[in-house]
Amino acid sequence: METRVQETLGVEPSLLGFGCMRFPTLEGGAIDEEQALAMLDRAWEGGVNYFDTAYFYHNGKSEEFMGRALARYPRERYYLTSKLPTTLIHSLDDAKRIYAEQRARLQTEYLDFYLLHNLNGARWREMVAAGVVDWCLERQAAGEFRHFGFSFHGSYEEFHEILTARRWDCCQIQLNYMDTETQAGLKGYRLTEELGVPLIIMEPVKGGALASPPPEVMDLFAPLRPGASASSWALRWAASLPNVMTVLSGMSTMVQVEDNLATFQHFQPLSGTERAAVDRAAECFRQKVRNGCTGCQYCMPCPAGVDIPGLFQVWNEYAMFQNRDRARAKWKDLDEEERPHRCVSCGACEEKCPQSLPIRADLLRAGEELERL
Ligand code: SF4
Ligand code: SF4
Repeated sequence: METRVQETLGVEPSLLGFGCMRFPTLEGGAIDEEQALAMLDRAWEGGVNYFDTAYFYHNGKSEEFMGRALARYPRERYYLTSKLPTTLIHSLDDAKRIYAEQRARLQTEYLDFYLLHNLNGARWREMVAAGVVDWCLERQAAGEFRHFGFSFHGSYEEFHEILTARRWDCCQIQLNYMDTETQAGLKGYRLTEELGVPLIIMEPVKGGALASPPPEVMDLFAPLRPGASASSWALRWAASLPNVMTVLSGMSTMVQVEDNLATFQHFQPLSGTERAAVDRAAECFRQKVRNGCTGCQYCMPCPAGVDIPGLFQVWNEYAMFQNRDRARAKWKDLDEEERPHRCVSCGACEEKCPQSLPIRADLLRAGEELERL
C-alpha cells in the first residue's frame, strides 16, 4: 500500500483512505455490519490505515459502528478521523454537547484527526465567533485529538480566507478531474501546496459519477491501461497530486475494495499521456452532464418529501449514458411523493447544497425531461 509520510504531523497514512459513509445497508437503512466488517478487514489487510467518519454518516450510526470495528485493530496502527457537524453548531454549548456525544459513540481514547465539517466562509466566522475554534484547540492540547483541520464546501475565496486564517494541520476538499474549477478546485489545491498543509481529497470519483463513464471515455482509457476500471483512473488522477495525503473512497462493495486496493498497492502516478487522456475524458463528461449533483444528501430531508439526489442521479445518468430504458425504469421506481411536482419551492435545500445548485429550477427541468420518457 502506498503511504504518504507527513513529517510535520509525524504520521504515515495510507494514500487510500476508507470513507465510512457508504457502507452496504440492510432493508430499513441500517449498516450491514457483516458485510461492512468484511470490507474493512480486507482493506486493513491490504494496508489501509486511514478511516474517515463523521457525526452525520449513516444517520449517526457510522461513528458508533467504526468505534466498535476499529477496536479490533491495534490502536497505534490506524488513523481515525471524525468531524464536528458545524451546520448544527450555533453556540459553544452545542459544540460541547455534540463532541461529548461523538466521544461516547467512538469509544476511543483519542482521535487522530478532528475536522470542522463542511465549512464555508460564513460557518467559519460563526465557529470563530462562538469560541468553537479556540475550544477545539484546547481539546487538542489536552490530547483528545492529535491533529486539527477542516473539510470544505464553498468558493475558492472562502477557502483562501479559512486556510490562511491560522496554521492548520490538514484540510479536506472535494476534488476530481471534473471539478477542477469548482469550489476550492485546483487553485485551492495549489494554495495547500504553497502553505504546506497536507490535503485529504473527498469525492475523487464524484460520488460514483466517474465510475461508469460513457463508451467514448472508456475508449480513451482502455488502450493505455487495458482492464483498469474507470474509478481507478479517477483515483489515480487525484492521488497523483503530490501534496495529497489521503484520497478517500466511500466504498460500498467488496468489489470496490478490491479494485481500490489494486490501484493503490502498486500505485503509479499518471503519466503525461494518461493525464492528457483524462483531460479529454473530462471534456466528454462536461458536454453531457446536466448538473453537478454529487449525491452528498446535504439537502435532505426535503420537507415536501422530494428525493432530490435520487432525481438528479436519474437525470444526470440519462444525460451521460442516454439509456432510455434504464432511466424510464428508475423514474418509475421513484414514489409519486418523491417526484419534483411535490416541491413547494421553500428553498431550504438550496441553502444547504454545497454545490450551490439551482435545485428548484433543476427539479423542474429534470421532471419535464424524465416525464417525456
Ligand atoms: S425547495 Fe422544494 S425540493 Fe427544496 S426543500 Fe423545499 S420543497 Fe424540497
Ligand atoms: S442537490 Fe446539492 S446538496 Fe443535494 S445531493 Fe445534490 S449536491 Fe448534495
